[in-house]
Amino acid sequence: MRKKLNLRRTIRRSVMTGAVLGCALAAAGCSQYTAGEGMRAQAEALRPESRETGPDQSIAGFGQEERESLAAAETSRLETERTTASVPEFEAEEDMVYVKTPGGGSVRIRSACDTSDGSNILTYVVPGTKLLRTGKNDQWTRVNYKGFSGYIATAYISTEAPEQKEAFDKVLSDSPVSLDGSWKYAKFSKINSGSATMYRSHAAERKDITICVNAGHGTLGGSSVKTLCHPDGTPKVTGGTTGAGAVTAVAVSSGMTFLDGTPESRVTLAMANVFKDKLLAAGYDVLMIRESDDVQLDNVARTVIANNASDCHIALHWDSTESDKGAFYMSVPNVESYRNMEPVKSNWQKHNALGESLVAGLKGKGVKIFSGGSMAMDLTQTSYSTVPSIDIELGDRASDYSQATLDKLGDGLVAGVNQYFGR
Ligand SMILES: [Zn+2]
Repeated sequence: MRKKLNLRRTIRRSVMTGAVLGCALAAAGCSQYTAGEGMRAQAEALRPESRETGPDQSIAGFGQEERESLAAAETSRLETERTTASVPEFEAEEDMVYVKTPGGGSVRIRSACDTSDGSNILTYVVPGTKLLRTGKNDQWTRVNYKGFSGYIATAYISTEAPEQKEAFDKVLSDSPVSLDGSWKYAKFSKINSGSATMYRSHAAERKDITICVNAGHGTLGGSSVKTLCHPDGTPKVTGGTTGAGAVTAVAVSSGMTFLDGTPESRVTLAMANVFKDKLLAAGYDVLMIRESDDVQLDNVARTVIANNASDCHIALHWDSTESDKGAFYMSVPNVESYRNMEPVKSNWQKHNALGESLVAGLKGKGVKIFSGGSMAMDLTQTSYSTVPSIDIELGDRASDYSQATLDKLGDGLVAGVNQYFGR
């Protein structure tokens, strides 16, 4: 069973230590997937996800269909305008259609009619999702996606409104999302037999934005395995849990222990659950990386999953100092070589912007903020992230983590997410 999703969307400043984990990675973004006027030709493919029982089961003709559509186009995705790539012909349409899959799985909307590359996946849509259709052919249906052209397999489009969208939503409500080995940077992961879980919001007003909530630490055996700090094999540029100059770091560190003996991983998990509930209530979908004391996903796997299945990645941590110094985010170090390394180069401003928004949200709820609100840190998470991605340190070993405090922190984080996405 596996699921994926993808989308991409936006930054800034400084340094410190702390037990961090991050590990983002991902790949090409479709940030600006579209281009110009007239006809932006982009193709999209999607494939239904499966959430069935069997290993990797997919619903309805996924492999075959994908193969067929390979013929489609040489569209250059990635923020460029389309050049001379060929695009399939579409019969013009202008009507509302609905996503429909035989098994209730979700379907991809792509920026190009090319199923061979995961980086053109704009998002995943669940059955019942209403879309404005602008064109169709046997294989692909062109739809309006956030003002741009997106492409979805015609096989999963219906003109009839579903009667039971609610039921579909419920079915989809805890879909596992596993690491797909074909995703960019997936091969750098060493621990990836576990899976994250996708939760769909049932709020009256859904935002169609997925937040990846990553409860820091909590991978048994994670500290005895090492992964590359950077996808290009270069050494870390700052210290931290792993020293500067190291080429590899522990796949997932065990985290610190609060002064009362409670492991950090337990508190990050409690925080994640509080945050999840608030996000769902606010209309966001939530991708939960970890929901128990152990998830077999290293920092690279967590990051790649977030890259492909969410719109932003927020890793929750508490720092290893004991001064109750306040919250801050781990910003992208201002080191030229680091900021020039992909995928950091294309995404660091988004990471910092997300961090700034979260700190502003926390501050607005009365949460104590450390210093300027950030500390520059070279993290595995940051080094592999292709969606806005941040490690937020919500306090340290001496900080209170009562339910009331977690509740306040959760409100602050949601406020920060709202600010970041302009909601
Ligand atoms: Zn931590």
